[in-house]
Amino acid sequence: MKTRAATPPTSLSPSRAADFMQCPLLYRFRVIDKLPEKPSAAATRGTVVHAVLERLFDAPAAERSAGRARGLVAGEWERLLAKRPELAELFAEDGAQLAQWLTQAEELVERWFTLEDPTRLEPAERELFVEARLESGLRLRGIIDRVDVAPTGEVRIVDYKTGKAPRPEYADGPLFQMKFYALVLWRLRGVLPRRLQLVFLGSGDVLTYDPQEGDLRATERKLLALWDAISRATETGDWRPKPGKLCGWCDHQAHCPEFGGTPPPYPLMIQPRLPEPRAAEEVAAPEAGD
Ligand code: SF4
Repeated sequence: MKTRAATPPTSLSPSRAADFMQCPLLYRFRVIDKLPEKPSAAATRGTVVHAVLERLFDAPAAERSAGRARGLVAGEWERLLAKRPELAELFAEDGAQLAQWLTQAEELVERWFTLEDPTRLEPAERELFVEARLESGLRLRGIIDRVDVAPTGEVRIVDYKTGKAPRPEYADGPLFQMKFYALVLWRLRGVLPRRLQLVFLGSGDVLTYDPQEGDLRATERKLLALWDAISRATETGDWRPKPGKLCGWCDHQAHCPEFGGTPPPYPLMIQPRLPEPRAAEEVAAPEAGD
């Protein structure tokens, strides 16, 4: 696999924001060094399932059946493989694995029909690429799985997850992504989305959240703080590893100091930062008699 040229980040997406929060060094490897990663069977299955759920809406409402959706899985896999031939290596050793993997994808697609009824839905947008520039200049971008608009004009943002729903105490992560999208749509269209809906096909759960203006303003503040931290690390080259339970899934352990590795030389120019101005009390005039 070829490594692409290193460039400083210019925008933020929900996945890259999540990377930085998980581990700044992982963010650097992905966004700045652009180190190659091995394809993953689970992520590839997610791509195929998303493609099927999008394509199903090409059919007239009455024909959007579970059988039809299942029947689209193999074809969407072939289309993806034609675009990314390297994915063939996922099943190179054992042909039976591919059959099992396709069956799992079909089951995920079929479960969707227990959660939503596509014969009663007419999405306003599918796989919608969105990009908005905040007043601060920060560019936010991402792809929204589905946008529904009610006759009253109320907007619902829908995202499909092929994994299981998190326990309530861990729901902030996926909700953060949805608030990110809501903020972008709000900035682009001036309409506050009414509902955010996460559809977890792995466990058959639907999580909804009705955002308020205050939620989205808080999300904006959080993203600005995150971008400030990313910009500082980009300039100084100081990207700290933050080990956690997801390290087991990380492709970059060989370059990670937490696992005895060494990161590649930093590919961007380092700009030493000037010392912060001293706090007022530190520069206060000396006491009389000092
Ligand atoms: S192995 Fe863990 S600590 Fe190291 S870069 Fe990957 S996620 Fe970060």
